[in-house]
Amino acid sequence: MKCKECQTPLQVERRCRQVRLKCPKCQREYHIHELASELDSTMEKELERFSCIIYD
Ligand SMILES: [Zn+2]
Repeated sequence: MKCKECQTPLQVERRCRQVRLKCPKCQREYHIHELASELDSTMEKELERFSCIIYD
């Protein structure tokens, strides 16, 4: 999963009960639902580990 702005691979960032995908380069943050239709299988697997967390 890459940043839409700069194509840098996004990092999963967990905070409290929320998960964001964050670009380490330009600091843009994405809500999971913003990218839901574009998530690749690698990222989906990674997010499965956070399944108890609310995706707001
Ligand atoms: Zn970026």
